[in-house]
Amino acid sequence: MRFTGFKRAGLSGRQACLVWFLCLASAPAFLAGRSAAETPTVPQPLAGRVIVLDPGHAVLNEKGKIINPGSRARRGLPAGRQGVWERDVVLDVAEKLAPLLEAQGARVYMTRTRSNPWRHSLQGKQADNRARAIFANTMRADAYVRLHCDWNRYRKFKGFTTFYYRWGSRRLAKCLHRALDKSIPGRTDHGMHRRTFVSVTTTMPAVLLELGVLSNRKEGADLAGDGYKARLAEAISNGLVDYFETS
Ligand SMILES: [Zn+2]
Repeated sequence: MRFTGFKRAGLSGRQACLVWFLCLASAPAFLAGRSAAETPTVPQPLAGRVIVLDPGHAVLNEKGKIINPGSRARRGLPAGRQGVWERDVVLDVAEKLAPLLEAQGARVYMTRTRSNPWRHSLQGKQADNRARAIFANTMRADAYVRLHCDWNRYRKFKGFTTFYYRWGSRRLAKCLHRALDKSIPGRTDHGMHRRTFVSVTTTMPAVLLELGVLSNRKEGADLAGDGYKARLAEAISNGLVDYFETS
């Protein structure tokens, strides 16, 4: 009975079984994981690479309530763009970035997607970030990219910053930072910094990108825009290609 639809389409039971198996095989592998692109385009500079993307914040607790919500843009932005949340900006960027990487051969896993939120207990921000790092370890990632946006009390503060911790992550940080710098000329570059908060748990190169500053009126409005987020996604994709091509 399960294969009625296939049979109606003229397939034998055996053919239907095969189709069914292929459908299952191409289903998302695990949690928010995505299968590699089915139709390879040339070139495939990321073939065989596993990349874990971590759009920051937006943890759901047992009751389905968001904890660790992240920062929010200032009010007073143009209509429809008021108060955009960091967690939404970084998720949008990650969801634009994942297909770009997959089209180049990578297998991409995200700690959360729109339909599959990240869930964790009430143990706080640090435990949550550790759990995300363990997710990257479990997926045997070759690169772990954490996406965030900044917020600052000083309204004029704007620009992007790249963080890494272990020396083994420095080259990945450099490639991503350079790509972000190239993608949107004229942005304030706050450089690369070593910080333990990036991740001490991951076993692969890990980088945390502060993509822009939401508290700055201009940059907050930019970060709310789809075109701008697409450019950021493209830049990160270019940075990852650069990293893996030269490794
Ligand atoms: Zn953040």
